[in-house]
Amino acid sequence: MALRSLVPALLRATAPRRGPAPFSSVAAAAPRERPPEPPTGPDPQPGSGPPRPAPSPSPAPPVDFSNTATAYQSRTSWELLRNLLVLRVCALEPLLQRHQQLLQVSQKLLGRHLFDRLMKMTFYGQFVAGEDQEAIKPLIHHNKAFGVGSILDYSVEEDISHEEAEEKEMDSCTADAERDGSGAGKREKQFQVHRAFGDRRDGVTGARTYFYANEAKCDHHMENFLRCIDASGSASDDSFCAIKLTALGRPQFLLQFSEVLTKWRRFFHQIAIQQGQAGLPAMETKLQVSELQKSLESMGITAKCEIQSWFTGELLGVSGTVDLLDWNSLIDNRTQLSRLLLVPNVQTGQLEPLLSHFTEDEDLQMKRMLQRIDVLAKRALEVGVCLMVDAEQTYFQPAISRLTLEMQRKFNTQKPVIFNTYQCYLKDAYDSVSLDVELARREGWCFGAKLVRGAYMTQERERAAEVGYEDPINPTYMATNEMYHRCLNHILEEIRHSSWASVMVASHNEDTVRFTLQRMEELGLHPTERKVYFGQLLGMCDQISFPLGQAGFPVYKYVPYGPVKDVLPYLSRRALENRGIMKGAQRERQLLMKELKRRVLSGSFFYRPVA
Ligand SMILES: Cc1cc2nc3c(=O)[nH]c(=O)nc-3n(C[C@H](O)[C@H](O)[C@H](O)COP(=O)(O)OP(=O)(O)OC[C@H]3O[C@@H](n4cnc5c(N)ncnc54)[C@H](O)[C@@H]3O)c2cc1C
Repeated sequence: MALRSLVPALLRATAPRRGPAPFSSVAAAAPRERPPEPPTGPDPQPGSGPPRPAPSPSPAPPVDFSNTATAYQSRTSWELLRNLLVLRVCALEPLLQRHQQLLQVSQKLLGRHLFDRLMKMTFYGQFVAGEDQEAIKPLIHHNKAFGVGSILDYSVEEDISHEEAEEKEMDSCTADAERDGSGAGKREKQFQVHRAFGDRRDGVTGARTYFYANEAKCDHHMENFLRCIDASGSASDDSFCAIKLTALGRPQFLLQFSEVLTKWRRFFHQIAIQQGQAGLPAMETKLQVSELQKSLESMGITAKCEIQSWFTGELLGVSGTVDLLDWNSLIDNRTQLSRLLLVPNVQTGQLEPLLSHFTEDEDLQMKRMLQRIDVLAKRALEVGVCLMVDAEQTYFQPAISRLTLEMQRKFNTQKPVIFNTYQCYLKDAYDSVSLDVELARREGWCFGAKLVRGAYMTQERERAAEVGYEDPINPTYMATNEMYHRCLNHILEEIRHSSWASVMVASHNEDTVRFTLQRMEELGLHPTERKVYFGQLLGMCDQISFPLGQAGFPVYKYVPYGPVKDVLPYLSRRALENRGIMKGAQRERQLLMKELKRRVLSGSFFYRPVA
């Protein structure tokens, strides 16, 4: 069986503009309930969806990020000292560079029990909530009492060697057709696996990495995510849980599907250039149907009668134009495009099949990945937890984002249950956000987004430079900031008009949080509406999270948990992300010192936090 028979099913959902669409035909292999009818939205126009209820007349309370008494109100002085100690250790560069060897030696010298205790008194205690769902409950309730919610994140990672990681990646990202030579050379460089970048952990401090071992391991990850969803559901009534799609299946499928989506989108832009529309934002680019038909015919892409049938859909082409959303809907069962489609390869100028073959085994692996995603989304809906799908590397991300969008179509019919993640360090972040907002409007489902800057910058840049494709990352930090604000603005404008959209501002950047608060005020968005959330990691930037929580803004901590020995890779990354040179770490140290001095001078050093 071929990818060609599955991708259309996955993508089919783009076609009907107002109705629910199946998540996938493969997901149907598992028992499935029909989703409730989505609310019928009004005409597609900016901010469609039910209007927001009248905002609260009282202004949002001010938030002061320098008031250390509020920021650290939930912490004992001992916890502040521990935080300071951890940040001081992270500032010792020679120590940091050898921290992995030091951890190994300490484990051997101290033995398991003492080592665990030492870690719990220091790094683990600072950044990890506990060993399991039971152990983390007190911390979750404590933070909640101070206005800060939790996004549970089971942080166990395999501590495998660099060589092992490379080996696993090469194996799990190479299709059988490539191995036996029949499909070799067809895949674009960006979407091929490269041994030098096989260890996806290299240069990444902000995110966890999963390597594919086998299907049983993916089932195991799914079980962990399910436990996490259940624990989130029982911990509070408005909680989130984070998942990563690379944990749920063989990444080969994500690579191939990402390539298909990228080629298809690029093909649209190529035709747009032919029609004199180079450089327009994605949502403003509209192809003239008559010219498009001529172009496709002259390229010999498929027969004339077939091309004509592409543009006879209920709404497609009524205006005489096709936009990128219409275009995406063309990879669809109705048009049987998948069977016929050839697209020009920009590098070779040759026409090539858009979709390639999967073996039976690969086909099964893909189905099981989709089933696992479906199982998680259903459970999240059942227990009233929002599911955040993390964004990952650019060679997987188009597929991850697209699969997440399919879940949103199916599950976000009444409220945003599934949140997609948008990485604003990407040059095309605004296009992705604006297209998905528009799609949600047209189809009448609830848009939910987590906005981040992005965790894989160094690795992405090196890979693009070495392998030889365009760097997907914005050229400067300033450009990423501008992109973040632009995307955020777009979503906030959407929220202003419609109660269907929500966003999580996932950032440790104080300026970004200030910008959000300012825009919320200007647009009349009140924190009690709970449409704009904030997210930070546990143990980092309490001076942002707690004042926000105390002022009534919905704010959440990513709460990692797991046994000490299994979260060491996570702790390594936290140490690197808090290294002394980081502006955020320096500011945190100053604020911690300020608060400790204040407590000593005011005789409240033994202060006991009470909500
Ligand atoms: C709750 C939460 C969830 C997260 N989920 C994800 C996720 O799903 N996927 C993911 O990829 N990341 C995720 N992250 C990590 C995030 O993307 C950032 O790596 C991290 O938060 C640092 O960004 P900042 O906005 O907090 O801080 P800042 O210090 O303001 O920003 C640092 C970021 O700016 C960008 N940047 C820095 N220098 C440059 C440059 N020269 N050119 C262009 N861009 C530059 C990089 O993205 C860098 O990570 C998450 C973070 C949080 C707090």
